[in-house]
Order: sequence, then C-alpha cells, then structure tokens
Amino acid sequence: MYIDVDPITPEVLSAMFTRKLFYEGKVVQYVWEHVNCYAKAINIPITLPTIYYNVPRPRKWVTYFTPTKEEFLQIVNEYHNFVLEHGDAELLIVWYPIPDQAHHHFFSAITTKEAFDEAVKWYDLAAKFALDLINEFKPKRFLVVGDHGFVSDLEFGDVRGKKENYHHRESLALTNFAPPPQRPSQVYCWIRKAVET
Ligand SMILES: [Zn+2]
Repeated sequence: MYIDVDPITPEVLSAMFTRKLFYEGKVVQYVWEHVNCYAKAINIPITLPTIYYNVPRPRKWVTYFTPTKEEFLQIVNEYHNFVLEHGDAELLIVWYPIPDQAHHHFFSAITTKEAFDEAVKWYDLAAKFALDLINEFKPKRFLVVGDHGFVSDLEFGDVRGKKENYHHRESLALTNFAPPPQRPSQVYCWIRKAVET
C-alpha cells in the first residue's frame, strides 16, 4: 500500500475509514456506522479521545493509545486481552500501538544488529497479536493494514518543523480477500465490499 496522504496516523485512518459529506456543513461518516451488520471499532485514533464504537471505553484508554516506554510490553499485552474480550462482532476494526510506537521508543533507526533484533521482536509480537485475533474470532475475511511505514536510516528528521522519527509512505496490506487496497482511500470501499458480498 502507498500512503498518498500525510503519513500521520489520524490523517491516514481518516482517509481509510471515513466518508465526508459536505452538504449541510461537514458531516463525517465512519464506515462502522454504515454497514448492514453488527460492527465494533476499538481504539481508533482519528479523534481524541480515541474511538470506541459498540465497545465500553476502558478506564485505561489513554495508555492503550500511547503506552509509555517503561510499561510498553505490559500495556500492549493488557490491551490485547481487552480486544480479545470485547472484539467479537461481524465487523471488527481495531488499531494497535505496535509496531509504530515500539519504533519510537526502542529502535528509531535500524543501523545496528541490536536495533534489528529489537525490531524483529516487536514485529513478531504485532504479527502474533494479529494471528491471535484471527484464530479467536475466525473472520471469513480479514485485512491487516499499516497506516504508514517505518523506518529510516536517520534517527530523526524534520517533520513539520519538529525533530521526529520519520514515517514512510510505503505500508502494508495483507488479506485473504483479494485484491488488497492500494491506497488509504480504497479501504472504505474495500470494507463495504468485504462485508456486503
Ligand atoms: Zn509514529
């Protein structure tokens, strides 16, 4: 997938999951509100607070969105258990703070063997969590999609005037329902098609 909007999570997820109608002012429609099935959305950071739809907002929603470096592994495991507990639906859309925030915390650039090993560890965990969800809920169709890519060979770059890690425009889309979306703007229609055909 190529990210053809600013590769910043809220903007990309907005391009993926919303339709904007401009009559009677600006109206945003989320895809989970416009499918003919029981849908849930968990921890979608298009807005703050992050969106929980048909799922109770957990007390720890802030830490589930931005786990601290010190508690990262513990919190992402706790969050994953929350998703397993509440994620049963005909359409489940869920966002995880890995690998992105693991990148920011632990390996902003892969320039050493240690950084590479660290990256593999967190990508492995992200893949395990995705597999857990598939094995638990056994969806007929699934889409695993990144909202942007990492990683640069530079530790920090100039992002909108601030020194930050780089997000790349090259991302990933994995599915058992071909063909996968090629751009964020194709995700909305892809989801509609996946649940309605
Ligand atoms: Zn990031």
